[in-house]
Amino acid sequence: MIKVKKFTFSSFLENTYLIWDESSKETMIVDPGCYDSYEEKELEGFISSNKLVVRYLVNTHCHIDHIFGCRFVKENYKVPYYAPENDLPLIEQFDKQIEFLGMELKINPPLPDHYISEDLKLKLGKTEPVFLFTPGHTPGEYCIYFPEDKICLTGDVLFQSSVGRADLWGGNYDTLLQSIKTKLLSLPDETVIYSGHGDESTIGEEKKYNPFLAEMNMW
Ligand SMILES: [Zn+2]
Repeated sequence: MIKVKKFTFSSFLENTYLIWDESSKETMIVDPGCYDSYEEKELEGFISSNKLVVRYLVNTHCHIDHIFGCRFVKENYKVPYYAPENDLPLIEQFDKQIEFLGMELKINPPLPDHYISEDLKLKLGKTEPVFLFTPGHTPGEYCIYFPEDKICLTGDVLFQSSVGRADLWGGNYDTLLQSIKTKLLSLPDETVIYSGHGDESTIGEEKKYNPFLAEMNMW
């Protein structure tokens, strides 16, 4: 069994996730968007009070709101950092992202130690998530699916009643819809989705109610 804890951080209301295996407490931190020391302490406090053992830092994609906390996590927990190779330009040009958003911010995000691929195997106890290549919101985004627990972290690809925007830094709307159709809507309907922003949903609910998918008559 895996467990999920969601934090919502920064003015972007970005969802940061801790995913851990209940018996071994081995933990993956996904998309740490903690923006200041208050939010870093919130994340750190939960990890220590639940005695979680942090093993991996993973980014679904590398938009700025999803990488604010990467350096903190990397330095604090000394864990390997996995991110999509195609999103590397986003990390390297984070100052352009900041400028575009009209922010004044000095961050120095780390570069990944490893790239994600669909063959990547990262174990949390006996659980092994599946990495699904789902480009479109960014050129490199991956969703993270836990088949036994029927949970999928969908990053900024699929939201409750919405889909990711595709008009920024190499995004492509057709590619995005194709990713959703082939990689996400093919998951079991009861799969719970945890998105990069907003509330949880299920694949079945999104098939029924997501207006962006209904318009496309996708299945
Ligand atoms: Zn994004």
